Amino acid sequence: MTLAVAAGFGTRVRRREPLSRHTSWHVGGPAEVFFNPRDRADLAAFLRALPGDVPIYWIGLGSNLLVRDGGLPGVVISTHGTLDSLERLSETAVRGEAGVACARIARQCIKWGLGPAEFFAGIPGTLGGALAMNAGAFGGETWRHVTEVETIDRHGTEHVRQRSEYRVGYRKVEPPVPEEWFIGATLSFERRPGAHPDEVQKLLARRKQTQPIGEWSCGSVFTNPPGDHAARLIEAAGLKGYRVGDASVSDKHANFIINHGTARAADLERLIEHVRSTVERVHGVRLHPEVRIVGVP
Ligand SMILES: Cc1cc2nc3c(=O)[nH]c(=O)nc-3n(C[C@H](O)[C@H](O)[C@H](O)COP(=O)(O)OP(=O)(O)OC[C@H]3O[C@@H](n4cnc5c(N)ncnc54)[C@H](O)[C@@H]3O)c2cc1C
Repeated sequence: MTLAVAAGFGTRVRRREPLSRHTSWHVGGPAEVFFNPRDRADLAAFLRALPGDVPIYWIGLGSNLLVRDGGLPGVVISTHGTLDSLERLSETAVRGEAGVACARIARQCIKWGLGPAEFFAGIPGTLGGALAMNAGAFGGETWRHVTEVETIDRHGTEHVRQRSEYRVGYRKVEPPVPEEWFIGATLSFERRPGAHPDEVQKLLARRKQTQPIGEWSCGSVFTNPPGDHAARLIEAAGLKGYRVGDASVSDKHANFIINHGTARAADLERLIEHVRSTVERVHGVRLHPEVRIVGVP
């Protein structure tokens, strides 16, 4: 049924596309249908053509996703390399589409003399993913800057929603209605004339000393429990370097799990469960995954 829908959208639709090509852990089975829209009109037309019961999942740069080895049924909509306009609306307001890379927001805001936006450079995902996760780094957080968002629903209808309609917390965003996805946002910053690109480089260099940047990971696997750090608890439980298949807990930062090349999603998930149960046994603290785990085993 979903395959019939795919006709008419050319090579922008791919069938049984391996999601391992689209996640930073480089694992994950296929998407039944994978769609990379040309623009908003194309996206709306595609959504309108979908039967109402087809599952839809959105993916940005896949930097916070564990897709299981059996893949995802239905349709995966990817904003990679598309929906990527970024413009200055006024003295302090910026409008970005969902597919804009967070690092670009950081760089461009410095050029515009706006901030604090340097923290976006630490998030290797899209604005859409950052909105869904309330991503944050170096003390900054996405939703502190959101004034309104643009969304699209499964009928291809666009909506504008105010920040106050969302319940936002640490790595948590509750939308007012289900099945609306971000296509853009208006962000507000302060005037910061004289900011220099070196500031971003300094932050990234500092992070490189403590995190295994450049290896295949999803960043932090678990959120920090109140008043503590997941990495501290994992390290104190003796789990640094613990291995399942070709996946291991990073020796550099215990809240990172590395795929050394041939790990499968099942190895990563087993390792996540092992870390979770060991930390609970040793410290009595239940960790919660920050990474989104989706798909069929
Ligand atoms: C090396 C490394 C370091 C990292 N450091 C940080 C950090 O410092 N801070 C931090 O917060 N995160 C960090 N992350 C995690 C990750 O980069 C963020 O969570 C990021 O916001 C995910 O964006 P993405 O585009 O890759 O989203 P994806 O991983 O593709 O998707 C994540 C979730 O967002 C949803 N989503 C994506 N796009 C949309 C959309 N347009 N509308 C609705 N939902 C959508 C997906 O369905 C999924 O549930 C790190 C990851 C890596 C690999």
